Amino acid sequence: MPTLQKLIAGNWKMNGLASSVAEARTLAGALDRQPATARVALCPPATLVSKMAETLAGTSVLVGGQDCHAEVAGAFTGDVSAEMLADVGARLVILAHSERRAYYGETDAMAAIKARAALRAGLEPIICVGESLDERQAGKTLALVTRQVRGSVPPEVAGHSFAVAYEPVWAIGTGLTPTLEQIGEVHLAIRETLVQTLGDAGRDAPILYGGSVKPSNAAEILAVKDVGGALVGGASLKAEDFLAIIRAAD
Ligand code: PEP
Repeated sequence: MPTLQKLIAGNWKMNGLASSVAEARTLAGALDRQPATARVALCPPATLVSKMAETLAGTSVLVGGQDCHAEVAGAFTGDVSAEMLADVGARLVILAHSERRAYYGETDAMAAIKARAALRAGLEPIICVGESLDERQAGKTLALVTRQVRGSVPPEVAGHSFAVAYEPVWAIGTGLTPTLEQIGEVHLAIRETLVQTLGDAGRDAPILYGGSVKPSNAAEILAVKDVGGALVGGASLKAEDFLAIIRAAD
């Protein structure tokens, strides 16, 4: 069976000014000289999506948003629609990141609605799930994550490109990571859930791991069965570190 192409996506969160796009240019230049096996994407803050997409046009690096509103347009002060992201060159969008769930009360149902909006605009949604430390310690991880997948991934994704990102909340930005066995166990549960809910369309979607991925641990994490790529926060801000993670997928 051929190995599916991995997706390595960088989440800049609320970091980066216009001058930071130089990092993206450096990354794209390196990948131009030596192409990566994986698909590569950078998701800067909304203010930089347009400039980054212009800068990276014609390179192998895709650009994505970090969230989108469910509606196309309207009286939603401060929000950005999927169509607006697509209009300025985004190809993907991260949805239901644990920071959105924690700070903005985003639910599984909202994630599913936003995922439909992303598909409507032609964007590839990266739908995030993951347990808190309390939930892991209480032995609830598999039940919670499978429930999140069922609620957050709408059936309409079948036939479209989409990804699920498993991001244990306690591993994000902390330097802590689950064991490789724990990662494999959750990814298998996600794969089984996707196949149960979507049938064959659930077999090939990349399931990314996210949470303190760095150059020193990327190769072992990316080698775990059912890990189809990585969602990288802090280590995606510097081209050199992000490139090392991308190379670990080769
Ligand atoms: C993230 O923001 O999705 C993330 C995984 O962050 P970090 O890599 O910094 O833990």
